[in-house]
Amino acid sequence: MPDKRALITGVTGQDGAYLSKLLLEKGYKVYGAHRPTASPNLWRLDELKIQNQIDFVPLDLLEFSNIQLLFEKIRPTEIYNLAAQSFVSKSFAQPLHTGDVDALGVARLLEAMRTTIPEARFYQASTSEMFGKVLAVPQNENTPFYPRSPYAVAKLYAHWLTINYRESYGMFACSGILFNHESPLRGIEFVTRKICSGLARWSRSQGAPVALGNVSARRDWGFAGDYVKGMWLMLQQASADDYVLATGQTHSVREFAEAAASTMGIQLEWQGSEGAEVGAIDYNTGKKVIEIHPSELRPADVECTQGDASKARINLGWTSEVGFEELVAMMARAELTRAHQGPLRHDPIFTGQG
Ligand code: NDP
Ligand code: GDP
Repeated sequence: MPDKRALITGVTGQDGAYLSKLLLEKGYKVYGAHRPTASPNLWRLDELKIQNQIDFVPLDLLEFSNIQLLFEKIRPTEIYNLAAQSFVSKSFAQPLHTGDVDALGVARLLEAMRTTIPEARFYQASTSEMFGKVLAVPQNENTPFYPRSPYAVAKLYAHWLTINYRESYGMFACSGILFNHESPLRGIEFVTRKICSGLARWSRSQGAPVALGNVSARRDWGFAGDYVKGMWLMLQQASADDYVLATGQTHSVREFAEAAASTMGIQLEWQGSEGAEVGAIDYNTGKKVIEIHPSELRPADVECTQGDASKARINLGWTSEVGFEELVAMMARAELTRAHQGPLRHDPIFTGQG
């Protein structure tokens, strides 16, 4: 068996794709775990041209026995748990399913690991959403949590369980508290890619405006390709610990939309007062580009996140390299290319408006 064997759950997601690429470059044998289905959603791995280098294995976080059997069979040295129902809005509509995957799914993984390969190293994908209604600015590893969605509550259970298995059984289990990280491979439901793909299609057809909700919300947005390096670094240390990964900068959804529009040559003019926008028009043509839709608002939202990644910088030597403007331009340009090529062939969740 090769020395470096990584199992990545959620390999079909954004981070699964970038992490697979990184680990393959580092000489790992990469086992990519996907939900058992006849046709897994491989468009991201396709885009990175690494699909053929991954050993795909079926794994559902809802099934304990399949996790245990898989661990016994492939005996990974490192396990990266990236699988989740990761969309906050959906967690309000499906709180039980979200809890089953995002909270109990991690209990299944840790327990299977404890009973089969306790010497393996484990990474849990925790989230800045756990800070929710933030109790300090900026947020670091010592900031108290205040989750604001079923997703964040489930992730908080998983975060503490990861720490509990480390402390109770001496397992090498790390929790990475990652602030939002984006890329052209981001899910279409998330606001950054929704804005970029919507604006790109608008710039081509000047058809339906992009529907958005709370444009005042602020996020600490980084580039996913930078963040997967931090995940790997966490598992290479002498001892397991928890780390915040963030840029330290925060921007509003409104600013993101303005920057993406500007990359596409659209100058947005907002309508309505700041904080009570009703939409935005194209300054040059007067045509409506963005429409604020109450249906996009959440029962409770996280208004602002801003992370302090000092611990990761000092202990891991990690920093976020791609800045806000570069990230927005990268995403906007990718969507312009896609808009010219037609809908993504391999992206079954590409539904038009997002
Ligand atoms: P994605 O939503 O892109 O990917 C989630 C992955 O989980 C998909 O591969 C999905 O498979 C898989 N999955 C969902 N349910 C199950 C299940 N029951 N069993 C097995 N696999 C399942 O997320 P990202 O790549 O963006 O994020 C990776 C992780 O990091 C997630 O846990 C997320 O919550 C967390 N995170 C992400 C942040 C971000 O900004 N991106 C910030 C902080 C944390 P399928 O293709 O079949 O749907
Ligand atoms: P999240 O931080 O994991 O919830 O990432 P999202 O990209 O889904 O949302 C980031 C912020 O954008 C949240 O505060 C949302 O309320 C806000 N937002 C505003 N309009 C939209 C929209 O149309 N879709 C999404 N997904 N978020 C939106």
